[in-house]
Amino acid sequence: MPPSAEQLPVAVIGGGLTGLTAAWQLRQAGVPVAVFEAAPGPGGVIASTRDGAWLWETGPNTLLEGSADIAAFVDAIGLGGRRLYAADSAKNRYVVRGGKLIAMPTSPLGFLRTKMFSWKAKLGLAGEPWRPRSPADAEESVADFVVRRLGQEFLDYAVNPFVGGVYAGDPRRLSVRHGFPKLFALEQEHGSLLRGALKRRNTSGGPKGRIFSFPEGLAELPRALAASLGNAVQFGARVQVIRPAAGHWEVTCETGGSTRTGSFSAVLCALPADALAALRFEGLPAAARLAELREIEQPPVVSIFSGYRREDVAHPLDGFGLLMPEVERRRILGTLFSSSLFPGRAPAGHVALSTFVGGVRAPELTQLDDAGLRNLVREELGDLLGVRGEPVYWHVQRWAHAIPQYTLGYGRFKALFAAVEAAAPGLHFGGNARDGISLANCIASGRRLAAAVTSA
Ligand SMILES: Cc1cc2nc3c(=O)[nH]c(=O)nc-3n(C[C@H](O)[C@H](O)[C@H](O)COP(=O)(O)OP(=O)(O)OC[C@H]3O[C@@H](n4cnc5c(N)ncnc54)[C@H](O)[C@@H]3O)c2cc1C
Repeated sequence: MPPSAEQLPVAVIGGGLTGLTAAWQLRQAGVPVAVFEAAPGPGGVIASTRDGAWLWETGPNTLLEGSADIAAFVDAIGLGGRRLYAADSAKNRYVVRGGKLIAMPTSPLGFLRTKMFSWKAKLGLAGEPWRPRSPADAEESVADFVVRRLGQEFLDYAVNPFVGGVYAGDPRRLSVRHGFPKLFALEQEHGSLLRGALKRRNTSGGPKGRIFSFPEGLAELPRALAASLGNAVQFGARVQVIRPAAGHWEVTCETGGSTRTGSFSAVLCALPADALAALRFEGLPAAARLAELREIEQPPVVSIFSGYRREDVAHPLDGFGLLMPEVERRRILGTLFSSSLFPGRAPAGHVALSTFVGGVRAPELTQLDDAGLRNLVREELGDLLGVRGEPVYWHVQRWAHAIPQYTLGYGRFKALFAAVEAAAPGLHFGGNARDGISLANCIASGRRLAAAVTSA
């Protein structure tokens, strides 16, 4: 007799942070799971490499502890004692204006004094609470939203570089509703960003959004999740076909040159948009439209880690890093001061910098060969940080499809996920193409996926 669906494990496809979180949550709830991961190890785009005293991240560098939930999750998986908060100086966030690094103000007095914004822009901000809110169903770009509420200078020198740093994206094309839902909600709920931000600050008792990593980098997180799941995670297992069967699901994967099919009670897909669009769904006509996910823009980004002797860098590197406004017309999106953020990233007497190039702004630059990228970074950091000479250590990581862009009209992709789920009970979609791009979003996405099974 075939096993009943309740006895079968849940298939989790994708062993990045979203999938591993979902599987871990299910395991906590006593639900059997099987994770399929195409790569030889866990973590997806999270990858940290230790080489002697150097430690570099190829993908994300920091996780924001924006809620007590994230802190509790890290504690629950046993990493609470290894959490490494960023140095206090990380509150210094530099933005380039007129070729010079200016620290973003962090207090009202600092705002009044900063050279980042003109007096006209500062005075204009005083009118923000009285500007009308947009209709609740409006679809507006981040750029239009910011200019309407705060003015052009705030778009150019605050939001544009921030969007470049977070999405490697363009605020003229990103949807404020889908790309920055908290910002959108602030206007909708309070009628003003300033009023809403003040109110939230006064009522929130939780952590104030500290950023953290671990001594061996962010990869400690997926490694810990995968270790606790043991042989429930199969590496080198690329799922190719998903099909509904009588009362359960069948998943076929390719592993070690052969294909295997297994039966599962439910299927959780925690894949990036392009990987999801490439899956074959048999016997599920509604899923044919998932091919449309290929239309989600995921521009290329290159991350260049470079190490220098301390005396070869003039800038004190007393901050998180620098972000580059597009109007400055330079060739990098930004640089993290990696060895200032966390200890153990560079040998004594050296500093480590992580620079990002490409994105929606300049995808063509990602076509440069490694030597070309090294020269580009050396020239840019020479001007901006007073870096002299060649790096003593460097590594180039290329992402052909880095971060999904939540562009205007993105709601149609979200509706697509919901429509396929409605036609296929037991099949669920999460990950950064649906639930937001940050690591905190991915943890929340994994939990949502697990809850979809446990509450069914
Ligand atoms: C360069 C870069 C820098 C970033 N910086 C930050 C940052 O500092 N802070 C932050 O919060 N966020 C950052 N992000 C965003 C964040 O890292 C990602 O959104 C998040 O890690 C995505 O996790 P995920 O599990 O949803 O997807 P992924 O990490 O993409 O994992 C999906 C997994 O699915 C596997 N897979 C694909 N196809 C199949 C298949 N057919 N069968 C089985 N397995 C398959 C893949 O191998 C992969 O392991 C950054 C992203 C990039 C690219």
